[in-house]
Amino acid sequence: MPRILKPTYFGNPILRKKARRLTRKEILSDKTQELIQNMFYTLREKEYGVGIAAPQLGYPIAISAIGIKPTPTRPDREPFDGVIINPQILETFGEPHEMWEGCLSSGEGDNTLFAKVPRYKKVRLQWLDEKAQKHDEIVEGFVAHVAQHETDHLNGTLFVDKVVDTKSYMLASEYRKRIINKRS
Ligand code: ZN
Repeated sequence: MPRILKPTYFGNPILRKKARRLTRKEILSDKTQELIQNMFYTLREKEYGVGIAAPQLGYPIAISAIGIKPTPTRPDREPFDGVIINPQILETFGEPHEMWEGCLSSGEGDNTLFAKVPRYKKVRLQWLDEKAQKHDEIVEGFVAHVAQHETDHLNGTLFVDKVVDTKSYMLASEYRKRIINKRS
């Protein structure tokens, strides 16, 4: 049975370390396969949003789980459901745009932080999947946005490091009220 993993929070040094990259053999091991299942289980059960990196669950290794589905307010969202292991952004396209984002490690529930972060709308991403298959793809839109946040996590970088508009910081409760609700 998959189990819910305990989150780590800002201040925990694991979030500031470069995560260890995995070999193909390690990826295919029972231990890693079980961790991947637990990561997805945790992401879904806790309704933790769209992505979580292994260090956010206490594992200092380069795996992030991404679960993006279309939503009632974003029906045109392109889905992405899978892990990115040893991800690398090899190329970025165009200028960065300020986009809203938050982080599960920044607090609990209504008290997590959101802010505007400059992100690229299109990037070339290389990664291995759970079968240790290599991908090298141009990803765009929301997938590109989440992939940048998750790849940063595996390099010990947090979104707060990249915020330029520091006055944009708000708690999740305010973000929902002021930004999300205005969109719908
Ligand atoms: Zn995060």
